Amino acid sequence: MNARSDTVDIELDIEGAAEYLNLPRSRLKGLLDRRILLQNWGEYQQLFRFDKSVSKIEHGSVLYQKDGSFELIRGFPKIQRAMLLGPALENHFSKIKTVAVEEKMNGYNVRVADIGGKIVAFTRGGLVCPYSTERARHLLGRDFFDDHPDLVLCGEMAGPDNPYVPKDIYGIGSLDFFVFDIRHKGSGTPYLLHERRKLAEEYGFNQITFFGEFSLDNAPDEIASIIRELGKIQHEGVVIKDPMMKLNPIKYTCSQSNCADLRHAFKFYNDIGRDYFFSRVVREGFQSVEWNESEAELQKRCLQLGESILRPMIESIKQVRDGTRIADDVQIRVKDLGTVSTYQDYLRRLGVDAVFGEPEIVGDEYLVKIKKLNQSTNDKTESMCKGELW
Ligand code: ATP
Ligand code: MG
Repeated sequence: MNARSDTVDIELDIEGAAEYLNLPRSRLKGLLDRRILLQNWGEYQQLFRFDKSVSKIEHGSVLYQKDGSFELIRGFPKIQRAMLLGPALENHFSKIKTVAVEEKMNGYNVRVADIGGKIVAFTRGGLVCPYSTERARHLLGRDFFDDHPDLVLCGEMAGPDNPYVPKDIYGIGSLDFFVFDIRHKGSGTPYLLHERRKLAEEYGFNQITFFGEFSLDNAPDEIASIIRELGKIQHEGVVIKDPMMKLNPIKYTCSQSNCADLRHAFKFYNDIGRDYFFSRVVREGFQSVEWNESEAELQKRCLQLGESILRPMIESIKQVRDGTRIADDVQIRVKDLGTVSTYQDYLRRLGVDAVFGEPEIVGDEYLVKIKKLNQSTNDKTESMCKGELW
């Protein structure tokens, strides 16, 4: 079968799937009709992803129809944010004595699982990303999945050869996968934090940095100083976890990373959702209050925030005014040129407007530069420059 073809030769066994998911048959049929449960295409058409959460099944969960049976890869749960560290820790973790603090890396979320003998990498929304899949196969190998076909590795893909969130801040040459969770298929139950770290270590996987376990009394101060240090090196922040993984983790980030997000987003000001900007500005307000800043510190924060918003936007306006279209430049590095065309097809299906450059040979791999065109910002700026009204 042609991997790129749209022909569907597999249909969902509604009866069986309804029973497996413990949902009424009519409900499951409705999910398919309303395109909330979506069938994948080509090579992966035995996979069905949940485009919204349904009962207890999270958005991004993937149902895999094997010959006559099913598996469910649960969506990665949303991590809520602390706005004020002290009160949030006290409120959220009041039932436990210590919290574990891990780095929050800035890349993109990937779940890797064995699907019928093949290693597959899922995006947050439950799509099979061809680039991440190729990288995961190469970076992780088969051993873990041969020994534990019932487990899902959750982690961050980070580094410069990254088509979604490219970052040079980690000293990574290309792209690496950092494990932050190991979960069971079906239930989604996570490994306890230290057991997960031990298991990942046994297989030689990269892991997210562990900063330590702190008593609830000390945690706000300890975390604030970790955050200040991480900020200096432009890292993103931390995720604070119950070592027993019974309570949900919460996240907290550095001002510098916030401003870096804003710098990138304001370059493409009309392509990014407005909530993205607003939430980042509000975070700055809460952090400044909690850190009880002096006038001088506050001025520095105001200047940094303002510059992150205005400078990139002004740069974009000038560029478009002078006749250059703005684009987001990213790159991927692959072993197999086939991955480039599959990935190109994948982005096209997602409606991403991207121009792929010619592959360059780098060692035993190919580097491909991609220009992601941000039509809306280009069009809006161009029309403003021509005198149209907002
Ligand atoms: P969410 O819906 O989880 O809030 P988001 O798209 O808003 O997701 P982020 O603000 O980046 O994403 O925060 C959550 C994400 O952080 C996770 O989905 C995961 O990809 C990433 N992450 C990085 N480091 C860790 C870590 N140590 N533990 C858990 N998640 C981590
Ligand atoms: Mg992130």
